Amino acid sequence: MIVFKNVTKQYKGRDVLSAVSFRINPGEFVCVTGPSGAGKSTIIRLLIGAEASTKGSVEVDGADLRSVPRSAMQLFRRRVGVMFQDDKLLEHRTVAENIAYPLEVCGASAALIRKRLPTILKRMDLVGRASAFPSELSGGERARTALARAIIHHPAILLADEPTGNVDPKQSKAVMELLRDINRSGTTVILATHDTVLVDLLHTRVIRLENGKVIRDSIGGYEEEPKQERSEIPQAIFVSPIAQKKSVGEALHPQTKGRKKIHITAIGVA
Ligand code: ADP
Repeated sequence: MIVFKNVTKQYKGRDVLSAVSFRINPGEFVCVTGPSGAGKSTIIRLLIGAEASTKGSVEVDGADLRSVPRSAMQLFRRRVGVMFQDDKLLEHRTVAENIAYPLEVCGASAALIRKRLPTILKRMDLVGRASAFPSELSGGERARTALARAIIHHPAILLADEPTGNVDPKQSKAVMELLRDINRSGTTVILATHDTVLVDLLHTRVIRLENGKVIRDSIGGYEEEPKQERSEIPQAIFVSPIAQKKSVGEALHPQTKGRKKIHITAIGVA
């Protein structure tokens, strides 16, 4: 579970996030949206521990990221997959080598890499492009390579920051379908995007920011009037007793039954 409690982030004394509070349960798909400069990327950076809050806490399954030791932080980061608008592909490596890179960094065996690669290449529709270099790829293929790289280590949480910024609308939709599919298989997905069309298409929980403040937190399209604000939903529905008892790693693990149940019954996203 991810909890932002009254999080304020300042740069040079200026609030770019002001007292932001929300809670995201395992298995949810959440769009963090709002215009450019609203604070979306700052939320992602706080979540990967690249920045620390100025005030308030960012918690993942009960652990306040400000007080997590450096060594544990590295382990925590392995539980998270990240995909950025600037896909950060390694240009001198092939598609397959780019995708395998996080597993190599984690010290995974060649056998594990050989096992996972074909499956993920197929899932991302990249089988025929495995030996291509990034410069030879279309925008959509680059985005799917970056997505494959973000999930090859089976993260519990996938953070996607404007992942389709350089992709045409058709390819963008394909990437959204993949994100949906990844979420269905149990991964918590947090998508930061200013793209109202994507938010409408996904029709998931939307946390909408403006000038660093949450102005809406509900399920629906971008402009849709909320049917039920998150704050009105009783807390007890969202907290799985299973998740409460587990450690950071276990509670974030994608394949728990309790979490799937929360996802379907409380969040209402198929
Ligand atoms: P979004 O992702 O919604 O476009 P950001 O989170 O990137 O917004 O930025 C929110 C605000 O914080 C912007 O006004 C941006 O200029 C400012 N900002 C972001 N990073 C820094 C930084 N490192 N130093 C100073 N200001 C920053």
